[in-house]
Amino acid sequence: MSPAASRCPLCGQSLSSYKNKKSCRIENAGEGGLDKCSSCGLVFLNPVPDDLSAFYEGYRGEEGKRFLNRVESVVKFFRRRRARAVNRLFPRPGRVLDIGCGRGQMLRELKSMGWECFGTEFPGQASKSLPFTVYEGDLAELKLQPQSFDAVTLWHVFEHLKNPFSALDEIGRILKPGGLLVISVPNIESIQAKIFGRNWIHLDLPRHIYHFSPHSLSRALQTGDFTVLDLRHFSAEYGMSGVVLSLGAALTGKGPDFFNALRNGDKSFGVYGILIFSLILAPFAAAFSTAEALLKRGGEVIVLARKSGKDTGIG
Ligand SMILES: [Zn+2]
Repeated sequence: MSPAASRCPLCGQSLSSYKNKKSCRIENAGEGGLDKCSSCGLVFLNPVPDDLSAFYEGYRGEEGKRFLNRVESVVKFFRRRRARAVNRLFPRPGRVLDIGCGRGQMLRELKSMGWECFGTEFPGQASKSLPFTVYEGDLAELKLQPQSFDAVTLWHVFEHLKNPFSALDEIGRILKPGGLLVISVPNIESIQAKIFGRNWIHLDLPRHIYHFSPHSLSRALQTGDFTVLDLRHFSAEYGMSGVVLSLGAALTGKGPDFFNALRNGDKSFGVYGILIFSLILAPFAAAFSTAEALLKRGGEVIVLARKSGKDTGIG
């Protein structure tokens, strides 16, 4: 176990306890809990566990799937929306790297739009036989060509990284000048995070090491070589699922196991019960997640940032 940090790894200011290990349901992940920076508001698992591989066993099933088939078709719909959102940012297709690409659904969509696609994944976590290159391992160790990508995306991956700040440096190195970076993370300052506390499904401990807010995420990017262009606060996918699943976790006392029932290999809680529960609560979840997004405290925050330098466009 690495020693606990005494200062914020983002801004260097002092820390205070945010939630202790017991209140966070962190099991077998060392003696730490969540600490919060007094200045930038970054929340993180302190100390950062050395080895979290045991917590990723069964994280993805066959061909990288994370959920049962009926849920997967909903996921596919949202990945298509992600691809369209990225594609709209550029005058024509270019080269994109999706860090933590999983089963590569967004990249498949982008490829069909004419993009040259690349992904990264933890060793053994990527789908087999994807129609594009997937690098396995840490970004920094891959030694990708400098200034070789028009876009880099991290969809709910940044919070999993052991050192997201050095990853930002590496992304800055491999992006072309003017290239775009898209990062989406759960928002620790969201209203749903405050209401549900340890039952907030997007806390996902200990896999989520760093817990950002719009402020701390923007600060991380501005400390690096990036200019924040846009912050988006509404997410139908993560905002609504955060409300429904966190409510289920709280009402049943099952905690994160309520969500695990949607994953492959754990049907103990009854996936159809959860789906019916979700459908009944959908109108409430939609209204709630819209309201918190309007207050800029949505369950997910998506940041669009541009690497400093002259915009060379695609090419
Ligand atoms: Zn800080």
